[in-house]
Amino acid sequence: MKTVLITGASRGIGAACAEAFAAKGYFTVINYNRSEERALSLSEKIKAAGGKCIAVQADVADRESVGRLVSLCRYHGGGIDVLINNAGIDFYGTFEQTDPAVWDKIIQTNLTGVYNVTYAALEEIKNSPCGRIINVSSVWGTYGASCEVAYSASKAAVAGFTKALAREIGPSGVTVNCIAPGFIQTEMNARFDEGAVRDVIYRTPLSRPGSPYDVANAALFLSSEEASFVTGQVLGVDGGFI
Ligand code: NAP
Repeated sequence: MKTVLITGASRGIGAACAEAFAAKGYFTVINYNRSEERALSLSEKIKAAGGKCIAVQADVADRESVGRLVSLCRYHGGGIDVLINNAGIDFYGTFEQTDPAVWDKIIQTNLTGVYNVTYAALEEIKNSPCGRIINVSSVWGTYGASCEVAYSASKAAVAGFTKALAREIGPSGVTVNCIAPGFIQTEMNARFDEGAVRDVIYRTPLSRPGSPYDVANAALFLSSEEASFVTGQVLGVDGGFI
């Protein structure tokens, strides 16, 4: 049985990935930070459907808790075959409102978090016969979002991280790819009013918001045998937005 570690899987895109990978027979490690109840109820739902999983608390920005998370993957899952670096936060405000504390928090979670988990998990992933790393970036990392400078910068950096690591560890057989979602219906976008949502849908050729399962399906593809020659890519799951 293959093991997948999904960071930030208590809700939204991460939770959809957890359900999708568990349904495909993966032992699924559901990482969460604050939403313990939701992570545990997702874990119960997956088990009730016949899947195998555990929920583990860890703040991706904290190296000590990430070390514990990876040890638990080893102990319960026998290693890590697929890592999905999905945990992320955003900040909506002007650049002037992006004070050093906000900047540091966004970068430590969205970028350093990807580094922390990948660094701690890499040996396990290299030991897998089919190791995969999938990082969740964003269209805003490519396009640039007004009033989301820190978020856009962190997500652009995740794409650069992906391409560089893919080159470096390609000879080990591990693939490293990135998914850049467009507007996906999750709590992260709950603050947008109806007009803002209508505007982004208008700018999306497929004329609808994405579902977290649209992203989960792309992650399943990148984890599959069929994608074994795909590495260093940024796959847009954005309804044609970019
Ligand atoms: P969401 O619904 O807000 O969920 C965010 C998840 O990240 C939660 O499970 C949260 O866990 C977790 N998380 C946050 N900080 C964490 C930390 N320090 N350590 C561990 N987990 C942490 O967001 P989403 O829309 O599903 O977004 C998932 C990813 O997709 C993010 O990287 C986001 O930037 C990216 N993305 C989203 C969209 C979109 O339109 N929704 C578009 C492009 C990219 P807790 O609740 O347990 O704290």
